[in-house]
Amino acid sequence: MTTVGVLALQGDVREHEVMLSGLGVEVVRVRRLSELDAVDGLVIPGGESTTMDKLLRAFDLRDPLIARIGDGLPVLGSCAGMVLLARDLRDGIEGQLTLDAIPMTVRRNAFGRQVDSAEVDLVWEIDGSPMHATFIRAPWVESCDEGVEVLATATGPDGERHPVAVRHGSAIATAFHPEISSDTRVHELLLAQL
Ligand code: GLN
Repeated sequence: MTTVGVLALQGDVREHEVMLSGLGVEVVRVRRLSELDAVDGLVIPGGESTTMDKLLRAFDLRDPLIARIGDGLPVLGSCAGMVLLARDLRDGIEGQLTLDAIPMTVRRNAFGRQVDSAEVDLVWEIDGSPMHATFIRAPWVESCDEGVEVLATATGPDGERHPVAVRHGSAIATAFHPEISSDTRVHELLLAQL
């Protein structure tokens, strides 16, 4: 059976577990190397990217995770998970590291204080139909390399549209939280990469 891990150092682990289980895969929490070694795909949940970065290093998971993603491990990062998957970061804290999984620059907390939390109807470019998305102190993709496919955009407080969902190889990142909706399309896209 296909096994999908949810990085369980911090953040909204439970919601991803529920959604993935509902899609019929075996779900495990990943906190140590042996657990990472056993998964066919991985979700990096929302939460606080600065804390997750510190815990990845404290648990000696950072380098093995970078290596597995480099070997093609399908991965989905939501919100803080998008921050972690970025190559470059804007508005990170001093010394904050990312995993350099997707050649993109992500701006942390980009939607600003006035949009601590917002629900927005996006267009999901994979099928061209609407997707209701919840943003919570969300990042956006400031820029990305040519090979990065933009799956959805949203209007920021600056009035401009910014990518809020991208795919590069078998890595997917969303600025919003697909795990707290009943729409399974983002997780299905991860499972399609397995
Ligand atoms: N602002 C958080 C961070 O930088 C992300 C928020 C979230 O995951 N809901 O990690």
